[in-house]
Amino acid sequence: MTEPQHHDIVVIGAGICGAAITNELLERGKDVCIIDAASSPATACSSHAYAIAHPHIGKGAPRLLRLTRIAFLLAEARWQDVWQQHGIFQPTKKDKAFDHAEVTNHLRSLGLDQDMAIAMDAQEAVKVCGIKQSGVWLPRGAGLNLPEASKRLLQDHERLTCLWSTRVERLETHGNRWHLLNASGQMIATANKVVVACAMEAKALMGTIGIRLPLRPVRGQLSIFKIKEDSEGSPWIEKLPKVGISGDGYCLPAERLDDVSYQWIVGSSFDEGEDDLAPREASDDFNRDQARSLLNYPEGNLRSLTKAGEFVGVRCVAGDRLPIIGALTQRPGIFLATALGSRGILWSALAAKLIAAQLLEDDFALLARFGFAADLVAALAPARFFAGAAPSALGALASNSKPIFPAESKAK
Ligand SMILES: Cc1cc2nc3c(=O)[nH]c(=O)nc-3n(C[C@H](O)[C@H](O)[C@H](O)COP(=O)(O)OP(=O)(O)OC[C@H]3O[C@@H](n4cnc5c(N)ncnc54)[C@H](O)[C@@H]3O)c2cc1C
Repeated sequence: MTEPQHHDIVVIGAGICGAAITNELLERGKDVCIIDAASSPATACSSHAYAIAHPHIGKGAPRLLRLTRIAFLLAEARWQDVWQQHGIFQPTKKDKAFDHAEVTNHLRSLGLDQDMAIAMDAQEAVKVCGIKQSGVWLPRGAGLNLPEASKRLLQDHERLTCLWSTRVERLETHGNRWHLLNASGQMIATANKVVVACAMEAKALMGTIGIRLPLRPVRGQLSIFKIKEDSEGSPWIEKLPKVGISGDGYCLPAERLDDVSYQWIVGSSFDEGEDDLAPREASDDFNRDQARSLLNYPEGNLRSLTKAGEFVGVRCVAGDRLPIIGALTQRPGIFLATALGSRGILWSALAAKLIAAQLLEDDFALLARFGFAADLVAALAPARFFAGAAPSALGALASNSKPIFPAESKAK
């Protein structure tokens, strides 16, 4: 048998997360080996072609708000050429009154200026984006085809090695090296540094080195509806959005297929603890209800939304709903990037910068410029789940060795 290859850096998982991290490391001049159990990139949750991205603008969860703003800016910069900017409207929650001045102040307090987020009453919203509801217009909100984006990130490169159809079942440490083993105990490769970006399967893999990650699956189904004009027309067609909408569920702008029919993608179900990939009629019915709610069209006839396809995926979610991104300090040389939940676009862009900075022990300047501070590193760090990790110690993990970030901001 030939000797397994040794690599300085191995990334396990070629979904959008592993692909983005690999690409960042290649751009920084590093050699990288990426390994995936499948025969090509983005075959699991990142086979989702209809994902959307926008900064989070809700109330509460201040760290989440700061993180999504930074991550959105990074994502926009990373995917410029495949970024489908159509704008996203976020309607006011049905049980809330809309106060223009209050919403505007809230948006500014989040560091979102006019070109990122604009409060609108229903009349303004009709004029600007064709939606007769009050809310917030996010003109830079966009869609991304995750498989397309992942494949671009992993294009042929002289410093890139890809091992497809190769499942890493176990990790072992030997001196300063990590050994990656398959199900028969054979060595696949050895590495100095291993980035674990294999979503839910990170849980089992980390179990082999005595680390328990609090990860859970959340199944989701997105429905592709076809809406046809009949002899009496279709009242839905006049209401179909030309922009994305994000509220209880989300939808893409409707697309005209031919003279009489439209395609409209609406999602998604949120089935906690489930990982079954078979499509369900119940999930389509749930999405029909969401469609009605997104357009504030309670009297809409649900039978007019004919099913034409779907995407089913399993999100990987951590106990506290934030992603897990950072060095696993209990096991030097291991870096985690998992639990991207429903924000694969944002968190993969952030993971690319943060993992590269920690792994190469350099260049936090860019992240700091975006407002990324030590408390945010701590909020994402794997160590947050392990007893005895004091907040000050978490801050110091920022660069494994160098405390470069400004101190935690008082604004929470
Ligand atoms: C219905 C639904 C709607 C969503 N909508 C949005 C949205 O609008 N916007 C958004 O940003 N995100 C959205 N998401 C979330 C997004 O799809 C995910 O967060 C993202 O795809 C996760 O990427 P990943 O790279 O972490 O994981 P994955 O894409 O699952 O990739 C993991 C990879 O690891 C490989 N692997 C696993 N185990 C091993 C092993 N042991 N050895 C080697 N390889 C292994 C797998 O083959 C796979 O390729 C949605 C998800 C769902 C389900």
